[in-house]
Formats: sequence, C-alpha cells, structure tokens
Amino acid sequence: MGVQAFETTVVSSRRLTATTHDIEVKKPAGFSFRPVQFTFLGLKTDRGLDVRPMSLASSPTRPNLEYGVRLSESAFKHAFAALQPGDSVVLQGPFGHFVLEEKRPAVLLAGGIGITPLKGMAEYASDKALPIPVRLLYSNSDEEDIAYRSELEELERQNPRFRVIHTLTGNLLKGWKGLVGRIGKRQLKEAAKGLDRPVYYACGKPGMVMAMMGLLSEAAIPEEDIRVELFRGY
Ligand SMILES: Cc1cc2nc3c(=O)[nH]c(=O)nc-3n(C[C@H](O)[C@H](O)[C@H](O)COP(=O)(O)OP(=O)(O)OC[C@H]3O[C@@H](n4cnc5c(N)ncnc54)[C@H](O)[C@@H]3O)c2cc1C
Repeated sequence: MGVQAFETTVVSSRRLTATTHDIEVKKPAGFSFRPVQFTFLGLKTDRGLDVRPMSLASSPTRPNLEYGVRLSESAFKHAFAALQPGDSVVLQGPFGHFVLEEKRPAVLLAGGIGITPLKGMAEYASDKALPIPVRLLYSNSDEEDIAYRSELEELERQNPRFRVIHTLTGNLLKGWKGLVGRIGKRQLKEAAKGLDRPVYYACGKPGMVMAMMGLLSEAAIPEEDIRVELFRGY
C-alpha cells in the first residue's frame, strides 16, 4: 500500500518559547505511526501550498498529533505560527526508522528543536509504563530556549524511570543547576551512568547529529546501538 495523504484540522496552536511554536492536529482516522516517525506537513502559505518533513512531537498513545518547529522568516514558518484551531493542514506519512526500542535502556540526545521526536518517545515510555530507563540529555543555548520544559518535568513525575538532564551552551542565568557546555564526553557519561548497553538516539540539525555520531564513536559505542534523525533543511 502506498503512503497516504490526510487532510486534518488544527486543535491548538501555541508559542513554546520566543523562537519555537507548537501545534496539535486531530489524528486522522486510519493514521498510525511508531514512536516516533516523521510525516510531511503541508500548509497554505502566502506563496501557495508548501511542504516540509516534520517529526511528530507526540507519542502514538496520545489522542492528537503534535508538531513543534523552530521559527524562521520562511513563508512556511510564518504560516505555521499563524495557524488557528479549525484551520486545515495536510500530512503524508508516516516515514522513517527513528523508533524507540521498547526493551532496551534509552539515552536520548536532543539539540534544540531536535527534541520533538524524543519528547514523543518519552511520552510513549511513560504512557506504556515501559520498564526501561530513559535518560534525555537536552542541549540548548539559553534557559529560555528550552522547549517543552514543563511537559518534560511532568513526564519525570509520571515516570520514575525517566530523567531529563539539561545542558546550556550560552549565557547562564543566575542559579542554573544543570550542566554547562555542548554535549561531550562528560555529559554523555552522566546520562548513561549505570545503564546496561543503552540505545542512543540523537536528533537535531545535521551538524549536531554528526557531532553526536563522532562522540559516540569515540566512546566506542557500536553502530548498531545508535539511531539518528537529521533535521535536513536547517
Ligand atoms: C526527518 C525530518 C524531520 C524534521 N523535523 C522537524 C521538526 O520537528 N521541527 C523543525 O523545526 N524542523 C524539522 N525538520 C526540518 C524542516 O523540514 C525544515 O527544513 C526546517 O524547519 C527549515 O524550514 P524553514 O521553512 O525554516 O527554512 P527555509 O529557509 O524555507 O528552508 C531551509 C532550506 O531548506 C530548503 N527547503 C525549503 N523547502 C523545502 C522542501 N519542501 N523540501 C526540501 N528542502 C526544502 C530550502 O531550499 C533551504 O535550503 C525536519 C527535517 C527532516 C528531514
């Protein structure tokens, strides 16, 4: 069977941070996906219909589908940020192999908006009460740039096996208690502490994901334990 296209409607549209925006859309009848694949998302823009590959930002266990984007000056992003409940969007998918292994410990490595499918994986582990430890190492430049911070804290409360470790690369506000600097050896060690042969999932802009692959290779992590999703287009 070919990959289907679905028209659906926006349920909510909200600014996450100064530079990121989130929408929820109705899950179309007949659409299913694994935690967490991507779709193509088509929007009506000033320049006609425009399409981008977009990771789903929610778990298949949730009633709606969610997308989160980093804003830019593109017509697509302007249209995305302006979406209102009731507006229609088109999606096609699902695609990809960036999928959580349900029986192995997981270390999720997120750079900026690369959090989207990893948030969905964390929701899935929590909703399904998976017996695996899940650690999320989440790198942002500044504290105000952290997307889905409260949602992730809520997941930590729901799932005692889930832990978020933040690291910041930019200006630190007073009282910051998390890690500092890009994801490197030290941060990786902290995230994987005590885990028995975890699978590593890295997601973000291509440069960030390439850096993660280099880091994991230096740490002698075998390739079969590494999954990556590159946000090409940034
Ligand atoms: C699997 C996957 C999942 C992704 N998930 C997310 C996500 O969850 N959140 C997120 O913010 N971004 C995600 N992206 C990136 C997203 O698709 C956009 O490329 C990115 O958001 C930049 O879009 P823009 O409109 O801001 O940039 P633009 O300035 O419009 O475009 C950036 C570059 O992409 C090229 N481009 C523009 N339109 C297209 C097109 N239709 N097809 C191919 N290339 C094009 C342009 O020529 C330019 O070089 C994902 C990408 C991939 C491949």
